[in-house]
Amino acid sequence: MRILVTGGAGFIGSHIAEHHFKKGDTVHVVDNLSTGTPDNLTGLLGHKNFSLDQEDILTWNRLENIVVQCDRIYHMAAVVGMFTVLREPIRTLATNIAGAERLLRVVLDAKTKPQIIMASSSEVYGPKSCTEGHKESDQLVIESSAKLRWNYAISKLADEAFGLTYHREHNLPVLLVRLFNTVGPRQRGNYGMVLPRFIQQAVSGQPITVFGDGTQTRCFINIYDTVRLLDALADKPKAYGQIFNIGNDQLISIMELAKLVKKLAKSKSEIQIISYQEAYGEEYEDIKCRKPSLAKLRRYIPVAFNMTLEETIKNLIDL
Ligand code: UDP
Repeated sequence: MRILVTGGAGFIGSHIAEHHFKKGDTVHVVDNLSTGTPDNLTGLLGHKNFSLDQEDILTWNRLENIVVQCDRIYHMAAVVGMFTVLREPIRTLATNIAGAERLLRVVLDAKTKPQIIMASSSEVYGPKSCTEGHKESDQLVIESSAKLRWNYAISKLADEAFGLTYHREHNLPVLLVRLFNTVGPRQRGNYGMVLPRFIQQAVSGQPITVFGDGTQTRCFINIYDTVRLLDALADKPKAYGQIFNIGNDQLISIMELAKLVKKLAKSKSEIQIISYQEAYGEEYEDIKCRKPSLAKLRRYIPVAFNMTLEETIKNLIDL
């Protein structure tokens, strides 16, 4: 198979690229290196079945040429991370929406119909409660004059709408995946993601910074599980034209996470509570709880997790 991964030097994208490379596929990556780095692709660089273009998805002039050579495209290129989204709200909207739109337009013109796996996000579920787990069919509510943190969700909803509409109008094989909190090697903390921050803080003896009161909950999936599930789903022709949650459904509060990291790292770090306002400024709003319903995903593929959160944290501490 010939694969294109946009944003393929980033955390999730580089693991997708590596997974397919190891399967013997030919892999092309385009990434503007705004958050990604070639270091994430060290095992692949220089190999004849791999190539990397350091270009922006919005302006990359080889997009048309590469798309016609591909069987499958993972569209992962996006502005990500809460710190980045809050610092660059316009770039978040513009890049995330225009990147997906350009890609779909180019694929339509190419007429070769490669499969497109488009990354959406659990952010689209907004601040609503999640006791039962968020379902793909849930109604989605974001306030009028929403805080800037929701620009990311809005951009991903626009991508979903583009993807679904290209599927309905032109029969393009587009698969939409709402990715829940994904963790593993190569994820960096400087854009806001909680686990690499906690691990780095615990290992270096710095205070572990819990934002809010720590009662907010999340479900964390190991990147290797994510990549495997994505590939399995992408092999199901009936999944195209639809939206799927991809995540683990084991809930943990952020305070419990901080304590778990501290324990596993045998760290002496104190756990420090920091208000949301201090951490992010005025334009942030809490998501109290986030958990995927996996019922729909299970109707299409077997869903099992190879790595627990505890194993993942231990591995990351040992890196
Ligand atoms: N968080 C935290 N300390 C940090 C970074 C993040 O307590 O140093 C919190 C953050 O406020 C949120 C949760 O951890 O409640 C998950 O944050 P992340 O940005 O990793 O993911 P998301 O908010 O998208 O679920």
